Amino acid sequence: MDPLPQKADVVIIGGGVMGLSTAYNLVKRGAKDVVVIERDEFFGQESTGKCAGGIRHQFSSKVNIELSKLSIGIMEHFEEEFDQPIDLNFCGYLFVMASEELVPRFQKNVELQRSLGIETEWLTTRDILKKVPILNVEDIVAGTFYGRDGLADPSSVVQGYVKMAHRLGARLVTDTTVTGISVEKGKITAVETDKGIVETHVVVNATGAWSKEIGRLVGVDIPILPYRRQIAVTAPMDEIPQDLPMVVEYPNGLYFHRESGGLLTGMSNPNEKPDYDTTVDSDWMMSSLDALMHRLPVAEKASLRTFWAGLYEITPDAHPIMGKMPEPEGFYCVAGFSGHGFMHGPGAGVLIAEEILDGRAHTVDIDRLRYERFLKPGAMEREQNVI
Ligand SMILES: Cc1cc2nc3c(=O)[nH]c(=O)nc-3n(C[C@H](O)[C@H](O)[C@H](O)COP(=O)(O)OP(=O)(O)OC[C@H]3O[C@@H](n4cnc5c(N)ncnc54)[C@H](O)[C@@H]3O)c2cc1C
Repeated sequence: MDPLPQKADVVIIGGGVMGLSTAYNLVKRGAKDVVVIERDEFFGQESTGKCAGGIRHQFSSKVNIELSKLSIGIMEHFEEEFDQPIDLNFCGYLFVMASEELVPRFQKNVELQRSLGIETEWLTTRDILKKVPILNVEDIVAGTFYGRDGLADPSSVVQGYVKMAHRLGARLVTDTTVTGISVEKGKITAVETDKGIVETHVVVNATGAWSKEIGRLVGVDIPILPYRRQIAVTAPMDEIPQDLPMVVEYPNGLYFHRESGGLLTGMSNPNEKPDYDTTVDSDWMMSSLDALMHRLPVAEKASLRTFWAGLYEITPDAHPIMGKMPEPEGFYCVAGFSGHGFMHGPGAGVLIAEEILDGRAHTVDIDRLRYERFLKPGAMEREQNVI
């Protein structure tokens, strides 16, 4: 798109939802000379473009619920602010539990969600069946549902950020790979790329599953690992109701939602090892389709239309790493959203812009998400509702 500048006030590495949302929020607030560097030919083609589009408030940690409230609030007004429809659909998220052991944990989550204004309902199997009569609930013990959870279209969100960030003056550079970061006396001085050098004192690492590699360029160990996750989409089927919520099953992590009249489905393979491999594992695909047919017997009639694999960017506690890094000076991180970054991208951009322009994020307290938590024993609290 734009040529690589020789100088910038802020260089954002990575043009997925995190990098683009950060760029937009910086220029919206008046920052000058903001550049996003993306190595692909187009923006939003990696994890952001391969995700399932789910947006939800049903998390187990306060900070993730706060990030959802901020981000989903932005999505509600996205079309007005960006002149870009994003297929926002508040179809709700229905979590179903296939084990009694999960009940106390989910009860605690619902209590926390309610204390933060998220009116999640507790459902018996009878309630679940009333909501989604085509579900097989024979081995389900309970469920939770929140109607302001749902879906949005990732490529439209990316498109909105690209359009408005560019209109407000951000320079958006594609086909360019960051290969080095120069540091002098503990301060960032430049970013090196395969197309040239950009002098800058501020760098934002928004490279998702590749964040560890960017950390290595400045000698910082960023604990984010890439894990393959797969999705299958079926052809349209008359049996899939218009108002089907996003259904998520625990403990196996199966999920599905209505997509173009058919189903979009996935399930996390607990034996996946960290790797950048995004070829489709057909054995695992079969296992996940078996799980789908068990939970939703009408899926037996489905024919597969397409499938793909992408990468989750997972941290040890399944929470992102956000904010100013302890070193070098001028280094920021917004990555490691552990499978729920699409929905948190809009809010994360607001917060990183505050961190850079105001010295500290203030709309949501992100102290709990700072890198320093990995340096203090006992400072991590795991997010339980990871799919
Ligand atoms: C199958 C699947 C389903 C998912 N479902 C959901 C969901 O339903 N809801 C949800 O909220 N989240 C979901 N996610 C997670 C979500 O997609 C991610 O958390 C989010 O997209 C992360 O955004 P990002 O901008 O950090 O990463 P990315 O979108 O991956 O962007 C990072 C960018 O950095 C670029 N980059 C890397 N290294 C360099 C370099 N050296 N130089 C220049 N550029 C570089 C990459 O090319 C990439 O474009 C899902 C993910 C997957 C894989």
